[in-house]
Amino acid sequence: MAAERRTVDESYWMATAPGTRYPPPDSDLTADVAVIGGGIAGLCTAWELVRAGLDVVLLEADRIAAGVSGYTTAKLTALHGLVYARLETRYGPDNAALYALSQQDAVERTAALCDELDIDADLERAAACTYLEDPRRTEELRAEAGAARRAGLDASFVTGTELPFPVAGAVRVEGQFQFHPRKFLLALAERITGAGGRSMSARASPGSTTVCAAVCRPRAGSRSRRVTPSSRRITPSSTTRCCSPG
Ligand SMILES: Cc1cc2nc3c(=O)[nH]c(=O)nc-3n(C[C@H](O)[C@H](O)[C@H](O)COP(=O)(O)OP(=O)(O)OC[C@H]3O[C@@H](n4cnc5c(N)ncnc54)[C@H](O)[C@@H]3O)c2cc1C
Repeated sequence: MAAERRTVDESYWMATAPGTRYPPPDSDLTADVAVIGGGIAGLCTAWELVRAGLDVVLLEADRIAAGVSGYTTAKLTALHGLVYARLETRYGPDNAALYALSQQDAVERTAALCDELDIDADLERAAACTYLEDPRRTEELRAEAGAARRAGLDASFVTGTELPFPVAGAVRVEGQFQFHPRKFLLALAERITGAGGRSMSARASPGSTTVCAAVCRPRAGSRSRRVTPSSRRITPSSTTRCCSPG
């Protein structure tokens, strides 16, 4: 008999890290760059810009790290479902290798940030797996493992995983990470405001949303431009789902 599957509609990451509230601003803001959205994309972008010495305002319509970033499978990995075989076929091995390098660099950079900024985000080195339960598709996994290996990742095809149910096979990539995304992002938000900045609130979408902002002071000599809060809610870009199964 097939194992019973439970679905859970709560997020462990949301339940185990505190919420945030940044006060709204009471006037127009000036900044070099306005970063819209306090998810992982916005916070990492804002941090890099702050670190480069720019005057950054981060606008979040709801709460920091409470969008998609608060509901992920918490993998930091260069393995994204089944992508390397397709990249190799379509764009050639050099470009597939470039993609792998960029992804692994991003993984290592996030881990290095935890270290550098002294962020305790439950970061653990772990293997990443993309598995399939359908035995008719194991060739796809073998092809993916081969392409990922040629692209430079420490990848292999395996039939055994640590999952609590049987799988037909999996692509396993060593040297990846798992972490607590919200612990990482809430701490990063603090570091952003702490990097010589002030935190304040902002109005991004009058009448429909309250926007919070973390504003960081510019380095001496940097030029600022006025940021006018938009009355239109901007739709976030589509998300990349990078979790198993493949
Ligand atoms: C089930 C699931 C599991 C996943 N697992 C993984 C994984 O293990 N590893 C991985 O790397 N990726 C994973 N992903 C993908 C990853 O979670 C997303 O790509 C990533 O979190 C998206 O981050 P983001 O910052 O773009 O979006 P979000 O985290 O959604 O942040 C966008 C923010 O913008 C704000 N916003 C929107 N409009 C405005 C506005 N007008 N003004 C101000 N603020 C605004 C929103 O309130 C929100 O907080 C997963 C995705 C899903 C759905």
